[in-house]
Amino acid sequence: MPRIYTARTLVRGDAPPVEGGALLDVGGRVRAVGPLGDLKRRNPAAEVVDFGEALMVPLLVNAHTHLELTDYPRWAEAAGKTAEPEDFVAWILRLIEVKRGLDPEQFSHSLSRGIGQSIAAGTGAVGDICSQLGSRTAYRDAALQGVLFLETLGQDPELILNAEKHLTRALNGLWEGPLALGLSPHSPYSISAAYMSRVYGTCRTRGLRCTTHLAESVAEVEFLGGGRGDLVQRFYPAVGWGGFLPRAAHRNPVEYLAERGGLFPENLLVHGVQLTAPEIDLLGRQHMHLALCPRSNDRLKVGTAPVARLLRAGVNLALGTDSRSSCDSLSIWDEMAFAHGWFEGVLDAPTLFRMGTQGGADALGLGHELGCLGVGKQTSFQVLRPERPPTLGELPDYLVAPGRTAEIDGIVVRGLPVG
Ligand SMILES: [Zn+2]
Repeated sequence: MPRIYTARTLVRGDAPPVEGGALLDVGGRVRAVGPLGDLKRRNPAAEVVDFGEALMVPLLVNAHTHLELTDYPRWAEAAGKTAEPEDFVAWILRLIEVKRGLDPEQFSHSLSRGIGQSIAAGTGAVGDICSQLGSRTAYRDAALQGVLFLETLGQDPELILNAEKHLTRALNGLWEGPLALGLSPHSPYSISAAYMSRVYGTCRTRGLRCTTHLAESVAEVEFLGGGRGDLVQRFYPAVGWGGFLPRAAHRNPVEYLAERGGLFPENLLVHGVQLTAPEIDLLGRQHMHLALCPRSNDRLKVGTAPVARLLRAGVNLALGTDSRSSCDSLSIWDEMAFAHGWFEGVLDAPTLFRMGTQGGADALGLGHELGCLGVGKQTSFQVLRPERPPTLGELPDYLVAPGRTAEIDGIVVRGLPVG
């Protein structure tokens, strides 16, 4: 049955917000948007759901996360590893140490909690990275959409062969989850050049989406540029890869990616903190998408992404929380609030809100379904109920200010309430 949803303020995302705005839902799709009176007159049979003094806002998109690590803080506490990491390499070594010894069930429970926390934070779609293939069944009935990227990495040719077999089996097997399956060759420093090229080849042949951590730390740039630095001296020996050190590639991260066949728009890049101007211009020309994770970059002390240049070059920007090993919540509301200060003077509030909605949806190939509340999109939105509703003039800053997660008072996915 057609249904009209209305509230004090309708934040469409693709057009200015409307006071007293309403949308008509038919079968989970927005069929019309306009003033409540108009929609009622034209659709007298429709049921009206009025949220009163609230805001209807598009669901957010967390374009980069690792929900299987949602329980990381409690695992780290149990392992006595809660001190702030002093740098990027110290952080990744600690992550590996904490993950070691966990059993598959712990990852499954952790992923389930991550899914629940994401929905509760008003997230409608995720670009989620999964290293524990067995735990992906936690997604079976989840009200989340997006892409589940199966992570792969390695340097030892024998272990890589085994990893490839598992991935092929997972890709060929039955999958009933609500997310599309994709692949993630972790990062240029953690996967052999030949294997990385094969993963990109598989994605292109099978039409799968892909995601790659790129240009995150100075250590990665030094590794690819000169075959030196912290990854060579500390990371490779610590993970037993001392015998697999590649020769210096003498490439910057984007050149290296291009040579592996990884410069295609369906390969969502993540971080990009160290990107230089020529690299950014090349990403723009290739119509690439980039997910930024400012809270994670802050925690790991890797620097600030060059957003002004990225925007000028036309790179589509999205936002990600990254994992609970490097941020305090899975809320994109919280990420936007942090980013507003982190990128002060460079990113205005509407651009930031777009990154957390349409930018993320586009980056995951869901731009025609989610990202805003325009006609033809899914009727998927959240209801915010602040103590004092903002005026239309206050709205842009309100949407990227701290405190929004706690105001969520309802989630509707494809026309139906969730939870
Ligand atoms: Zn990540």
